[in-house]
Amino acid sequence: MDILVFLEEQQGKIHRMSREAVVAAQQFAQDHGLKVSALILGDSDNVLSAEAADFGVDECIIAAHPLLDTYSADGFTTAFAQIIQTENPRYIFMGHSYMVRDFIPRVSARLHCPFIGDVIGVTDQDGSPAFIKQVFNAKMVTDVHPVENGPVLVSFQAATYPAEKLVSGSPARREVPINLAESDVRATSEEPFQEASGGVDLTAADLIISIGRGIGKQENIPVAEALAKKLNAELASSRPLVDAGWMPPQRQVGSSGQSVSPKLYFALGISGAIQHVIGMKGSKNVVAINKDPDAPIFEIADYGIVGDILELMPLLTEAIP
Ligand SMILES: Cc1cc2nc3c(=O)[nH]c(=O)nc-3n(C[C@H](O)[C@H](O)[C@H](O)COP(=O)(O)OP(=O)(O)OC[C@H]3O[C@@H](n4cnc5c(N)ncnc54)[C@H](O)[C@@H]3O)c2cc1C
Repeated sequence: MDILVFLEEQQGKIHRMSREAVVAAQQFAQDHGLKVSALILGDSDNVLSAEAADFGVDECIIAAHPLLDTYSADGFTTAFAQIIQTENPRYIFMGHSYMVRDFIPRVSARLHCPFIGDVIGVTDQDGSPAFIKQVFNAKMVTDVHPVENGPVLVSFQAATYPAEKLVSGSPARREVPINLAESDVRATSEEPFQEASGGVDLTAADLIISIGRGIGKQENIPVAEALAKKLNAELASSRPLVDAGWMPPQRQVGSSGQSVSPKLYFALGISGAIQHVIGMKGSKNVVAINKDPDAPIFEIADYGIVGDILELMPLLTEAIP
């Protein structure tokens, strides 16, 4: 097997980051003349496999087992390891999601196969693929070449590939057996992170109003909230506002927060530090408002306004019908 893409479930649907991983696999397969298989774990009710039925991959492998219908690190590790051992894929692609971060290192340790996590791109050197990763707190990037011929686990940072570019097709469907006993599953998971923290899913938002230290004080946040409400957008922020306790952690965008890829991202009073930019660089369009004309955020903004957000936010809210 060439490439196996793990399709993760999120709230009854295929996770957006898994769709992005399929796009990564499709492009990688095209560049290297490889075949792509997709993998679903669990799914007794056939929901995910129905959704994947028009993915442009060669086959869709379903490893259905009652113990896999709910996520557990033990169960998923055992099932995933069994599939890798029987199918022997060269590359296993997936999104760098919370679930993947939880159980894939265990798969890596169990099978002694490398895990290249949080990849931001793929490059080619002398015909051999390398995976691009940020290092030293995203101040530098490095190319990681897998040197052994065995399976390589690769997870992609959110928004590295646009999910909208997923090519459709009609994959073959194959069911594979999994040997899993109740005693293999020693821990049960709690509710997913987003739900536990208020149902915010910035990664799925199309429109984000993001505020930074330029907001000045906590009392000004309702001005941004009003704009977000008018636009039906999610409110997000840079890290200093979270550190100050003004915004909840699940609304932080950046290297230690969420990675987002909305159609439109408003960066309001945000300087554009690399740790913030990492989290929003997948945005399709960026509008920046900043008092400082030399703020780095203007280097990546599609539209820039030099001005005071405290003056402009109410005007924008008023102007929007
Ligand atoms: C390990 C590590 C992880 C980190 N992770 C993250 C992360 O996940 N997310 C994150 O955001 N940061 C993160 N940071 C912090 C990051 O380095 C920056 O400090 C942070 O992003 C700066 O936030 P800011 O742009 O809101 O504030 P500042 O850099 O202080 O910028 C404020 C901006 O607002 C402008 N401004 C001020 N008043 C106004 C006004 N009235 N109208 C318009 N503009 C105004 C200023 O000109 C300035 O450009 C991390 C740092 C480290 C070391």
